[in-house]
Amino acid sequence: MAKKNENSMDEIVSLAKRRGFVFPGSEIYGGLANTWDYGPVGVELKNNIKQAWWKFFVKDRDDVVGLDAAILMNSKVWEASGHTAGFNDALVDCKKCRARLRADHLIEDNLDVKVEGKSLKEVTEIIKTNNLKCPSCGKSDFTEARQFNLMFKTYQGVTEEGNNIIYLRPETAQAMFVNFKNVLNSTHKKIPFGVAQIGKSFRNEITPGNFIFRTVEFEQMELEYFIKEEDWQKQFDYWQGEMIKWLEYIGVKKENYSIREHDKEELSHYSKKTIDIEYDFPFGTKELYGLAYRGNFDLTQHQKHSKQNMEYFDTEDNQKYIPHIIEPTFGVDRSVLAVMIDAYTEEEVSTANGKTETRVVMKFNKNIAPVKVAILPLSKKENLSKKAREVFDLVKTEFTSQYDESQSIGKRYRRQDEIGTPYCVTVDFESLDDDAVTVRDRDTMEQKRVKISELDKWLKEVF
Ligand code: ATP
Repeated sequence: MAKKNENSMDEIVSLAKRRGFVFPGSEIYGGLANTWDYGPVGVELKNNIKQAWWKFFVKDRDDVVGLDAAILMNSKVWEASGHTAGFNDALVDCKKCRARLRADHLIEDNLDVKVEGKSLKEVTEIIKTNNLKCPSCGKSDFTEARQFNLMFKTYQGVTEEGNNIIYLRPETAQAMFVNFKNVLNSTHKKIPFGVAQIGKSFRNEITPGNFIFRTVEFEQMELEYFIKEEDWQKQFDYWQGEMIKWLEYIGVKKENYSIREHDKEELSHYSKKTIDIEYDFPFGTKELYGLAYRGNFDLTQHQKHSKQNMEYFDTEDNQKYIPHIIEPTFGVDRSVLAVMIDAYTEEEVSTANGKTETRVVMKFNKNIAPVKVAILPLSKKENLSKKAREVFDLVKTEFTSQYDESQSIGKRYRRQDEIGTPYCVTVDFESLDDDAVTVRDRDTMEQKRVKISELDKWLKEVF
């Protein structure tokens, strides 16, 4: 298992809080396990990733359309999809310290064995024969493995009766299948075409989540691409390529991710091929995204359970069939985490008095940087503030900007480096005479004088 410097995770979590990327959920009440809140800078980063994804996978193509479906769906959806019966994790309890653990995590963190597809009996046996130890107390005395459904249950209406039970969706995908005919009839798309959605999903994850890697409430960006069966391999390879291009687009470094194909045991019964794109997180190499060939399982199931026809009439060869599906799926929060880890950089720089100090800089790709431009008047003097405000008003609509006149210029640069702002624009006393500003580049720290009248054009060229 590849491991990066494990301390880097602590540094990122602490920077995330200090600079307003991510805060612990419900913190003043002692928190709530596996929940996190995105702060003022984090929400910009997250929005940029979601908007970039929407542009990349929906807007820039004419074969993919969007959807924004309700989080709460009829419970029959989850019966048809198999989630009510089968969306389970195997759990074990430590008999000594009562820690509750996911059996697959206990095994996979200690042994080179994949658990997906194994029976409860096999899982219990692996834990026993390998004498695996509880990560909390070090003892090896566990209960037998048992199933635990990951869906959050709630009730609709005033009574908490069985037939009022509804679930918070554990994935966004089902809404795209359920709306297949609605989309088809309203858009007249021809196969192959896709439906994409970005939205919240909920899973009752019981193990510690490693920051925003595993949370109980998270966002997914999913694409269901409807195809003819015989095209599945071609389409699979194509979407794998698109996923790699996306990683490049948001600046995830090649050397930090890899592709792992699921073996037979791990594959869902309806899938002929599934891959995980794995990222080398500081806590281990783990799934970042997935790509699955789902056959025509989903639409067939919904046709069976809803008794509505899910067939597509192909006018090219006069045939009716239930389309097959290729599904690229992306976690928003895991994307945020991967780009933060890749962006995090510590550099030795020399200071004005000849010493060296460590500069922390988040080297985000410019297209997803949460703040694009910072406007910094050299002092709080009224005439400088006025000029700087004018510059701020000039750029803020086109580029997400921050106006900051607190503390020394050095401290303000450091703060902007830590949130990864590509350009700092300083308004100084000379600006009052020459109507120009100093623009500092985040990565090279080089400074350039730019006329205020040309700033907007200059910024458009560099972004
Ligand atoms: P894992 O094995 O890590 O639990 P999974 O295989 O169950 O993930 P999928 O059902 O394939 O995940 O979900 C699609 C994507 O949603 C994942 O690739 C991941 O990016 C994201 N995701 C899944 N579960 C979580 C979670 N609990 N918190 C944050 N993101 C998640």
